Amino acid sequence: MLSSIMGEPFTNKHTRLWMDRKVYERLLDAGQTARPKEFAALLGGTGAHITASFSPSQLATDRTSFHWDGPTLLSALREIGQSQLQWLGVFHTHPLTAPLPSSADHAGWHYPALSYWILSLAGREPELRAYQLTEGVFQPRSFMLVD
Ligand SMILES: [Zn+2]
Repeated sequence: MLSSIMGEPFTNKHTRLWMDRKVYERLLDAGQTARPKEFAALLGGTGAHITASFSPSQLATDRTSFHWDGPTLLSALREIGQSQLQWLGVFHTHPLTAPLPSSADHAGWHYPALSYWILSLAGREPELRAYQLTEGVFQPRSFMLVD
């Protein structure tokens, strides 16, 4: 089931990721509400274009990490499938630190095909970054917010 729902947003190395601005705004809002804890969501869409977010209600977060167990992840993935979308990545906030992958991020992420987004709320302005895990290293990837 996982293989059919998992997208490949980086199929083409030069593809730029796209995220709908309304999705970003919803995530920003939820992230600010969750402060000082992290907020996380699964991202769905087609190709390299993210058009929806799915936030499991049983998500466990604290100030420096987030976690969902297997059944929670599977039910969110089922929801993505029911929306006729593919799983393109994961989003989470860093309420207190820069948008750089932390040791918790390195320990918890195992999907090199998917995108990994960090929104820092630590500065005066929110700062969003997208990464791809490549041979164990998070590489920044370019993206665009689209209306
Ligand atoms: Zn993180």
